[in-house]
Amino acid sequence: MSVRVELVAVGTELLLGQLTDTNTVYVAQQLAASGIDVLGTHAVGDNRARIAATIRAALERVDGVITTGGLGPTVDDLTKEAVCDALGLETELHEPSLRQMQEFFAAMGREMRENNRKQAEIPRGARVLENPRGTAPGFIAFDAAGKFVASMPGVPREMKPMLAELVIPYLRERFAIREAIYTRFLHTINIGESEIDHRIDDLFRASENPKIAVLAHEGQCDVKIMAKAASREEAEAMIAPLEREIAARLDGFVYARDDESIAAAIVRLLGERGKTLGTVESCTGGRLASALTAVPGASAVFMGGVVAYDNAVKIHELGVAEGTLAEHGAVSEATARAMARGVRERLGVGVGIATTGIAGPSGGSPEKPVGLVWFAIDDGEQVQARSFQFRGDRDAVQRRATVMALGLLWRALAPR
Ligand code: ATP
Ligand code: MG
Repeated sequence: MSVRVELVAVGTELLLGQLTDTNTVYVAQQLAASGIDVLGTHAVGDNRARIAATIRAALERVDGVITTGGLGPTVDDLTKEAVCDALGLETELHEPSLRQMQEFFAAMGREMRENNRKQAEIPRGARVLENPRGTAPGFIAFDAAGKFVASMPGVPREMKPMLAELVIPYLRERFAIREAIYTRFLHTINIGESEIDHRIDDLFRASENPKIAVLAHEGQCDVKIMAKAASREEAEAMIAPLEREIAARLDGFVYARDDESIAAAIVRLLGERGKTLGTVESCTGGRLASALTAVPGASAVFMGGVVAYDNAVKIHELGVAEGTLAEHGAVSEATARAMARGVRERLGVGVGIATTGIAGPSGGSPEKPVGLVWFAIDDGEQVQARSFQFRGDRDAVQRRATVMALGLLWRALAPR
């Protein structure tokens, strides 16, 4: 079976561009993953007639509507009244919700106002969606033909559990939806979207369920494998052979699955090899160290970093020879190598990595244009140095250089 819905986000702030409608994105993602088809989305201001009209129009097209926002106690919270208008219902007091609200206020040591009582009213015959994280309960109301409107609070931390624990299970049960979409991510680095496409094109074309998608980010690509199945186990069994085939074709580029970041993969690899790391950054200004320290447990392997911006710091803190800087310049292979070695020796770490480049907008020359960045990785046995030419403004060059540094580091540490 299937069920088709439209989403309505309520709030004048949404229409004024004062609030980003993250609820719609979130609800749409969760419903899609749960086998519930979303056919349209809307944003409406705090206006009773327009909310009601939007719901009525949607119910002409689909089985139900899911709203967020406008359930609170204030005068501009009109969703419940609008839902009643749209479905031709009165409201009724829901005693358990009133009691729960009284307890909530008592526990908070706050006085309950008359307008809070209004929140314990629900459309006649509706199913109550309890809200232990706030005051306003949600509800699922029905019209005479059995079409439904599920209304949830706008506050994301109240809405999200209500959706997952009450709304989705109810809809899956009522519409006998047995399948859901389960997803596996393979994260790649150092390989472009077109090269991935070239390598897996035939699988891409042949796969309907599981389905494959390639999502490109800055310097990184994710391959997404989506299986529609009745259970996680069933989905895993469908995903596994395809995942193995894709991983084999992208061998040397897949750094992690699902939720692991490139920095987390590096921290894990350093731990597995019993190695420590130090960074020395010129043009990335500490972003590489920042990415690494964002990983829980990084302190076991990441010893520290130096932002060596001025030549004097490169010379005095890292032991880069003045002659190297004079002869080759700060942005050069020789300087990058000397920096990586310097940080490895001075911090007493197993692996040192250096970045030095021209982030722009000024400081470029025909030989060394803006966006040129040199990287060096020194593990005490060998040194790898490479340069890349990045495009974009200062921020883009810094971001891309940071991702590249992580990619090179992962490559240097990954088993092959
Ligand atoms: P309350 O009881 O807090 O009044 P409510 O159900 O009436 O809840 P709203 O008043 O519409 O919800 O919104 C309350 C807050 O929830 C907003 O100020 C905003 O921070 C957040 N919020 C509401 N709608 C959205 C949305 N579509 N996307 C993201 N956040 C939202
Ligand atoms: Mg409100």
